[in-house]
Amino acid sequence: NLSEKLDKAFHVLKGHGQITEVNIAETLKEVRRALLDADVNFKTAKEFTNSVKSKALGQDVLTSLKPGQLMVKLVKDELTELMGGEAAGVDLSGNPSVILMAGLQGSGKTTFSGKLANFLKNKKTKNPLLVACDVYRPAAIDQLHVVGEQIGVSVYSDRENSDPVAIAKAGVDYAKANGHNVVIVDTAGRLAVDELMMKEISNIHNAINPNETLFVVDSMTGQDAVNTAKSFNDVLDFDGVILTKLDGDTRGGAALSIKSVVNKPIKFIGTGEKMDAVDVFYPSRMADRILGMGDVVSLVERAQEQYDEEEARKLHKKIAKDQFGFDDFLSQIQQIKKMGSMKDLLGMIPGAGKALKGMDIDDDAFKGIEAIIHSMTPEERSTPSVLNGSRKKRIAKGSGTSVQEVNQLLKQFTQMSKMMKMMQGGGGRKMMQMMQG
Ligand code: GDP
Ligand code: MG
Repeated sequence: NLSEKLDKAFHVLKGHGQITEVNIAETLKEVRRALLDADVNFKTAKEFTNSVKSKALGQDVLTSLKPGQLMVKLVKDELTELMGGEAAGVDLSGNPSVILMAGLQGSGKTTFSGKLANFLKNKKTKNPLLVACDVYRPAAIDQLHVVGEQIGVSVYSDRENSDPVAIAKAGVDYAKANGHNVVIVDTAGRLAVDELMMKEISNIHNAINPNETLFVVDSMTGQDAVNTAKSFNDVLDFDGVILTKLDGDTRGGAALSIKSVVNKPIKFIGTGEKMDAVDVFYPSRMADRILGMGDVVSLVERAQEQYDEEEARKLHKKIAKDQFGFDDFLSQIQQIKKMGSMKDLLGMIPGAGKALKGMDIDDDAFKGIEAIIHSMTPEERSTPSVLNGSRKKRIAKGSGTSVQEVNQLLKQFTQMSKMMKMMQGGGGRKMMQMMQG
């Protein structure tokens, strides 16, 4: 992948005492190759390396950074710059604020509409409405309703109406009448850029005059993503780009090229199919990620957002009173699961990416534990000390596990309870404060 290739490129500089025109040229040739391999378009890659080169040559060789470190820094800064520098927000100033989704079929518009609605809903001050304007496939309307139900957000649709422009307008009116301060309009896409689709999306655009028009694009389509962005931008002049399917090992080339080709900021990235698999796009974090440094800041932020403050307070009390039981343990597991798939999370920890390769970590890791707890009676959950041999046997049978596994969970639980008690004593206070934001 790109990070490994860049790693190799920087290797060329290791062992050299200083940056010279020769070793810069050598390194940058490798960097350029790595960028091209990652689907960055040729012009962008060339401008990129030229810019790094002139900056590198202008550096005082007596700088405290080693040449390799200096190049990493220059490349990182340049990557950040290329992807837009600062994080770009979404305009939510309208009442309601209208957000229009555009993009090809399958790019992830409907999924992202749900993710954005969920993201805004979690901010508490927003009460979003989803509007279903993909009238060509009945399943598309159903899909948006399923998404809306999942996240607890209302969906406006009209199965009797086949005019997406009229539905979009009616949706905005519905939002005004029902106190929704954000309207997210999901539209139909087609398999390729064509006149009909462009006409329809610009008609909707003209009719509802959105605060934000977001172009949704599948990052896995590489160079095509950039070309599609260009076609849409020529017609629609959108405000920002949503880069979907940037999960796991997806190549980041599209992120690097799009900004420089259409000169519009990337605002969010989609990192999975679940409703919480979305992140604000931060150019410098993306650059870090590309360079294999991990995205620790996103990780911490996500953990904080998901950690329900009230739950934390209740838990605090229980631990202090020695009332922490298996039901609480179960809700802790559910908290962790809410944060996204384990692999997603672990992948953001520096160095973990490599260690995880080929390993099969997923949410199933918790299944056995949950099954065991579900097989316990309320009494057993709140007072684990009653668990004797025959009870353990019954639980093992009920949960399809073994007594050994039940014992192991019991041991883990006891350790965890002890640790939490200790943490509250003092040393852990800082950590609890951090988790509570
Ligand atoms: P639309 O046709 O533009 O509305 O696209 P959909 O929202 O229906 O998404 C098409 C497919 O891509 C669905 O199977 C989604 O689950 C999937 N998808 C959307 N966003 C992401 C993402 O960020 N990561 C992954 N892995 N899949 C995604
Ligand atoms: Mg759709």
